[in-house]
Amino acid sequence: MEFDTIAAISTPSGEGAIAIVRLSGPKAIEIADKVFRAPSGKVLASQATHTIHYGHLQDPWTEEVVEEVMVSFMKAPKTFTREDVIEINCHGGIVSVNRVLSLVLRAGARLAEPGEFTKRAFLNGRIDLSQAEAVMDLIRAKTDRAMDVALGQMEGRLSKLIGTLRQALLESIAQMEVNIDYPEYDDVEEMTRPVMLEKSLWVRSEIERLLQTSSQGKILREGLSTVIIGRPNVGKSSLLNSLVQENKAIVTEIAGTTRDIIEEYVNVRGVPLRLVDTAGIRETEDIVERIGVERSRKVLKEADLILYVLNYSEALTAEDELLFEAVKDMDYIVVINKTDLPQKIDLGQVQQLAGNKRLVTTSLIEEEGIDQLEESIAELFFEGELEAGDMTYVSNARHISLLHQAHQTISDAIEAAEMDVPVDMIQIDVTRTWEILGEIIGDTADDGLLNQLFSQFCLGK
Ligand code: GDP
Ligand code: ZN
Repeated sequence: MEFDTIAAISTPSGEGAIAIVRLSGPKAIEIADKVFRAPSGKVLASQATHTIHYGHLQDPWTEEVVEEVMVSFMKAPKTFTREDVIEINCHGGIVSVNRVLSLVLRAGARLAEPGEFTKRAFLNGRIDLSQAEAVMDLIRAKTDRAMDVALGQMEGRLSKLIGTLRQALLESIAQMEVNIDYPEYDDVEEMTRPVMLEKSLWVRSEIERLLQTSSQGKILREGLSTVIIGRPNVGKSSLLNSLVQENKAIVTEIAGTTRDIIEEYVNVRGVPLRLVDTAGIRETEDIVERIGVERSRKVLKEADLILYVLNYSEALTAEDELLFEAVKDMDYIVVINKTDLPQKIDLGQVQQLAGNKRLVTTSLIEEEGIDQLEESIAELFFEGELEAGDMTYVSNARHISLLHQAHQTISDAIEAAEMDVPVDMIQIDVTRTWEILGEIIGDTADDGLLNQLFSQFCLGK
């Protein structure tokens, strides 16, 4: 297949100080050389592939210098689209980016349609459909970590697993074919059923595992629900403020004046957190009653992470111990705040109550200890149960829905096999499962579906 050369702004407008104009196609290098001037005078075509070059863009017709740029030069086929790719990094203002884009368009490129770069990668066999969709997630990814997940998917983890599942299904379909071709041999039927059942049960359990990780994919996109608890006045709102680094929550001198639940979305070292300050859910000064309040229980129970704040300058109270009890089965970090004041807390006792949980000391007023807290949060997340790096996440709504469908059809097949339904009837459900899984990686997708998918992409991807 031969394509023309396309160009578009590939960074979302308004995000970051650098913007990229990307070119892809057989004339990408030629077009770039028409407008790019390196101080050395060397043309890009003479450079090694996958190198970056500093220089200026010059309008070849007026000889006016348009922009100071860095140009990435990547020769096919080791590029995202498997075509020659040029990326022009320029200062991010709308005016300058548009100037660069219009220059390369005048020099011979065509403005890309939304999603056209990704579509080319797909059409050139560089990525499959689920990978193409991962790019779409990438564009929307809120944090670096969510981006890693999207990237992991791009690398084809999900595709690989789906491929293995389909292979297993194919093998049992083949076995059933034998069966259907030789209906007179009962022993073949005898052999087919257990093979088919075993493979189907395995496929189903893998689908279930994938569906389970889908909620973790959601966590990564929407943030870990993080609840800040502690007695009045220990510094919960101050902690929320420190983490948000803006003064959105109300910090007061008087205990118990924060009324509403405050939620903030922050990115702590790549971990997306949705922070909740529980000061607002306090209905009474009495902490025992407070824990009893339905609403706070619910908030606690739904939390992925608890930040439990204690006062360094006060002895532990019975209330504090009750809170330790309330969170004992959850992921929490103990934050001992106000270390700028004289110590009254018994750290040994805290250690004992906290068991193997992490302890961090802070003085929020002196902006001390926040780094260690952030470090602990990141550690807990990246080294903890979630083990984000090793898992295959499904974070795409279309994939999740297809997996549910596949789960249904494979369950139908299993049920039928257990009920001694004729093998050719079971084969229908197994084949259907194979088709549905194929839709995830674009194998049985028709053109209509493809176009619909690609038109969702942002311009420049
Ligand atoms: P909350 O009721 O737990 O939300 O506590 P706040 O965040 O509203 O803080 C209560 C009071 O403690 C405020 O006057 C804060 O300025 C003060 N405070 C917070 N952190 C520190 C700290 O590290 N040291 C000192 N000395 N005061 C702090
Ligand atoms: Zn508060």
